[in-house]
Amino acid sequence: MSDSASDVVIAGAGPYGLSTAAHLSHLGLDIRIIGEPMRFWEANMPEGMFLKSEPFASNLGSPQPGMRFTDLHPGWRIGQPIPLETFIEYGRWFAAEGVPLRSDDQDAQVVNVERAGQNGRNGYAVTLSTGETITAKAVVVAVGVGPFAHIPDELAGLPSWLVSHCSAHRDLTLFAGKEVAVIGAGQSALETAVLLADAGAHPHVIARRQRLDWNTVPEERRSLRDRVLGGPRSGLGTGYRTWLWAERPGLVRYLPEGTRRRIVRETLPPAGSWWLRDRLDERVRVSTGRRPVKAAELADGIALTTVDRSGGRAVTEVEHVIAATGYVPDVARLGMLAPELRGRITTRLGAPVLSRDFEASTPGLYFAGLAAASTFGPVMRFVHGADFAATRIAGHIIRRMPRMRPTAARLADVLEPNTTRQ
Ligand SMILES: Cc1cc2nc3c(=O)[nH]c(=O)nc-3n(C[C@H](O)[C@H](O)[C@H](O)COP(=O)(O)OP(=O)(O)OC[C@H]3O[C@@H](n4cnc5c(N)ncnc54)[C@H](O)[C@@H]3O)c2cc1C
Repeated sequence: MSDSASDVVIAGAGPYGLSTAAHLSHLGLDIRIIGEPMRFWEANMPEGMFLKSEPFASNLGSPQPGMRFTDLHPGWRIGQPIPLETFIEYGRWFAAEGVPLRSDDQDAQVVNVERAGQNGRNGYAVTLSTGETITAKAVVVAVGVGPFAHIPDELAGLPSWLVSHCSAHRDLTLFAGKEVAVIGAGQSALETAVLLADAGAHPHVIARRQRLDWNTVPEERRSLRDRVLGGPRSGLGTGYRTWLWAERPGLVRYLPEGTRRRIVRETLPPAGSWWLRDRLDERVRVSTGRRPVKAAELADGIALTTVDRSGGRAVTEVEHVIAATGYVPDVARLGMLAPELRGRITTRLGAPVLSRDFEASTPGLYFAGLAAASTFGPVMRFVHGADFAATRIAGHIIRRMPRMRPTAARLADVLEPNTTRQ
């Protein structure tokens, strides 16, 4: 496959990659976005799932008007859960309308990124699974949560037919008739358990928390009193501080590192959606206040030892364990970055340290999405952060490439992040 050149290569076509592509192409840059649009949502989330985020917090970011979720689905109400397939359809519509896609790039993956030329003078050499190598001035790593799926040490090392991460499953009917332990207390754990029960499996939720928590039904209209006392509504929920984390991620970056990490941990702690609560019925066994400490392979399954706060042990025998135990960003797990490049990226606790424009310590390399959460806070874990990230990244790249400056009006559009767009 022949080599080629491009201004920017974006690795990953989820909400962050697509939003960044929309902003960059609007500026007239020559971009390549690699990966099938919304692939992770289609392949790694369970059939039958609904989004937890409300419609106004489920928009991809575009400099063009008319690209919000409700532009495709006018009248979709707050409190009306969005089915997974409806959101995938929105993401693919957004991609078709606002992003220059190449069909061969949709079947490709980025397999290697390394610095090009002496000391990276020529930017980056990006190799695709097709064998093509693209030389690019900038690379945006928008690979989402998938590479960071976390399985606790106590469960790690067992074969995947016994222990898997929840992101490994789209079709839960494979577990029909089976005893399955689901570890975790967040939306993924609770929804996986309900969908397992719907599929005819026998799920057992095991949660470290003392009790399960549930979000309340969002009100479409809020009284003035509620708004003053409860704080404004935002893409992450209601409350004054929550609003700040959701709507002003640029300010979060200036908080001390420990505070940022605490905010990421504590904002939206594990809880189920209000609409899931009634569906978690007697078909699902729930054990709270217990954490797994050991897992041993049996002839026909797995023996899971858990312990409660007072040290009381229990052994549960199941045929499979699904770890709904989250995602932990760690640059070391991004095998597509050449070791020499990875070694140059400054990290803290595995996450890249990023500039105000999402640039890593290696000039021209940007990280969007979960990998940016320890810098910009919890909104980077959600679709709602995509427009902010895309606007900042595109603005920085275009400033770096003066010969490609677009018209003044378009430039003002990206350099004014607080401008309201329809
Ligand atoms: C079960 C579940 C439910 C969720 N529900 C919500 C919700 O309701 N609302 C919300 O806001 N957030 C939700 N999230 C979080 C959601 O994952 C993120 O908000 C969102 O996906 C972030 O977009 P992204 O573009 O960073 O990542 P992704 O959507 O994961 O997109 C990244 C893409 O990059 C691709 N990729 C990875 N490696 C490569 C490579 N080497 N080359 C090319 N492509 C690559 C992946 O296949 C993927 O398609 C949920 C997450 C999970 C797991």
